[in-house]
Amino acid sequence: MKQQIASTTLTGSGTNSCRFLTIHETANKSRGANAQAHANLQSRAGIRQASWHYQVDDREAIQSHPHKRVCWHAGTPAGNANSIGIEICVNADGDFTKTIENAAQLAAQVLREENIPLERMVQHNYWSGKNCPTFLRQKGWNAFVARVRELLKDDDKPALEKPQAPASKPSTGKTVAQLADEVIAGKHGTGDARRKSLGGKYTAVQAEVNRRLTGKTSKPSKPKPVGKTVAQMATEVITGKHGIGHAARQKSLNIDSATYAKVRAEVNRRLK
Ligand SMILES: [Zn+2]
Repeated sequence: MKQQIASTTLTGSGTNSCRFLTIHETANKSRGANAQAHANLQSRAGIRQASWHYQVDDREAIQSHPHKRVCWHAGTPAGNANSIGIEICVNADGDFTKTIENAAQLAAQVLREENIPLERMVQHNYWSGKNCPTFLRQKGWNAFVARVRELLKDDDKPALEKPQAPASKPSTGKTVAQLADEVIAGKHGTGDARRKSLGGKYTAVQAEVNRRLTGKTSKPSKPKPVGKTVAQMATEVITGKHGIGHAARQKSLNIDSATYAKVRAEVNRRLK
């Protein structure tokens, strides 16, 4: 994800609740009216009294504002204060099919990060009645929603259903951190079995496991985090300690949505 963060000149006060994702199209069919051009437009500020969080074309997505900023894109105060805005480019020299796929990937990522349910991915039309996103409203909106659902589905599979490497798999090539994850997940058994499975890396891995499980950090100057770290919680989620489903896991971990989003991102990163 490329970032080109614009100033707050054209954004509102207060904090975006990030409860919705609003989909737009730029309605600018000019050649070259791609994501970079729209990001530059926002960086210059003042040309149009409008702002939005992301623009996406057939090659890339660019973020212009952090999610928490209240951008001016929805046409209503409620829409601006409660949603993240994505502008889909419709430039004539772009491959619109590819743009839509990139937009779906971006939308899934934002929904995931902010724990926004798919039902709250809405058209600009939902807030103000404007005919936007124009092309998707004519044709393809349902397919777009279905594609985003598909992308999110991979993420909703319980972690333990993901294929796991058998314990007998040779440990060469894996990092100490990866092997420590596996030990904590129970993949290398205990005692002599673990020693055999890890071979020459046993001592280093065991030290890492102990460090994680006791919460001791190798940098004592760092302030001790309150509660569990994201890494610890991610390990627990992967080992199934917090059940299945995001709502249940967040409740079990007793953390806020922003923290849970971080845990979720870490889990996804490790399971990739
Ligand atoms: Zn719009």
